[in-house]
Amino acid sequence: MNETPGAGPTVDGAPKASVMTGTGSGAEWLTRYSTSLMGVFGTPQRVLVRGAGCLVWDADGKEYLDLLGGIAVNALGHAHPFVTSVIASQLATLGHVSNFFTSPTQIALAEKLLALTHAPAGSKVFFTNSGTEANEAAFKLARRNGTGPAGAPRTKIIALEGAFHGRTMGALALTAKEAYRAPFEPLPGGVVHIPFGDVAALEAAIDETVAAVFLEPIQGEAGVRPLPAGYLRAAREATTKAGALLILDEVQTGIGRTGKWLASEDAGIVPDSITLAKGLGGGFPIGALITFGERVSSLLGAGQHGTTFGGNPVATAAALATLHAIESQRVLENVATVGDYLRSGLAAVDGVTEVRGAGLLIGFDLDADVAPAVVNAGLESGFIVNSPGPRTIRLAPPLVLTTDQAGAFLAALPALLQTAKDTQ
Ligand SMILES: *Cc1c(COP(=O)(O)O)cnc(C)c1O
Repeated sequence: MNETPGAGPTVDGAPKASVMTGTGSGAEWLTRYSTSLMGVFGTPQRVLVRGAGCLVWDADGKEYLDLLGGIAVNALGHAHPFVTSVIASQLATLGHVSNFFTSPTQIALAEKLLALTHAPAGSKVFFTNSGTEANEAAFKLARRNGTGPAGAPRTKIIALEGAFHGRTMGALALTAKEAYRAPFEPLPGGVVHIPFGDVAALEAAIDETVAAVFLEPIQGEAGVRPLPAGYLRAAREATTKAGALLILDEVQTGIGRTGKWLASEDAGIVPDSITLAKGLGGGFPIGALITFGERVSSLLGAGQHGTTFGGNPVATAAALATLHAIESQRVLENVATVGDYLRSGLAAVDGVTEVRGAGLLIGFDLDADVAPAVVNAGLESGFIVNSPGPRTIRLAPPLVLTTDQAGAFLAALPALLQTAKDTQ
């Protein structure tokens, strides 16, 4: 320990936040939490103080294998040295400018995203701070999508049952779950939810009053449900015919999560727009709306949308560093290998009835409603997993998860299921 003049203690010459937070046990922190933080998240499962790669440690010193990765956010695990040093160096060079100005990292990241998504000429990027903001921007884009029959504005937007697109009012209108929506109605109008994965229902719902169709290639919050093969292609054909935009929400599935840069890549279609966020900044908050082609990219004109923080130099540097590390560490190959290994291992576990997903976005169902108890048993045994439903477990680990780490979870799972059933 040494001293920074006027700033309290430092470690290794670098100031630490603990100078300002104080320290405590997990139980002490949770008492402070419950008296100071809004209750929207319930009681946090643990107080985490440190991470490295796929491991995190709580305030009581217990170690966990992080198989949730901040819900598909920590693409390169925790405290990745390259991403960390790029962020620190950018912050020490230029941390923020208003959007009256731009910066090299913002421009280079936009170029990189257009290249990675094979965007045609005229395609453009708008940066946000989160997934919901990217979908808000997409919602506004949809409202600008020209007119339908007899010059009437296109007001209808189609989304799917089970959809999750975020919590702000526009994105919430696109989100299907009644419990999230009902307390906040009226929501922005015109959104219709149609049955999941049903091509006939989609074709019946689309006409020239439809501004846009929003789809997640794999529904994450609904328990990792992939759209059936052929659905995206059918959606592309139907939207093109009706002049509606096809907007893909790849906030959870994008940036290598499935072993491809985009989950929709295999469908061989060009959507009108894609939204990204979660994994993009490798843990730093950033989102993006990408619009494909010139017409869609000019629907939002000067002054029609904006953001203070979106696209700031530090966030865009973090994303550039994340994308660079994913490429140079051959992370996509790791996702495919470890994902296959995990999914086939899970399918062989007694009590697992179905395994879904792609790459390292995995959902599996259990033969009893014990998923929340499995989450708790996991924490006790040093594994972080998530239960999006009463009998569904979701894994969205760092994309750098090793086969050995995946194997450790597979070896532990039978006992976790047994503990969960015993405590139920
Ligand atoms: C998480 C998520 C969002 C919302 O992102 P936030 O950053 O939490 O606002 C939107 N769409 C999908 C598919 C998501 O998984």
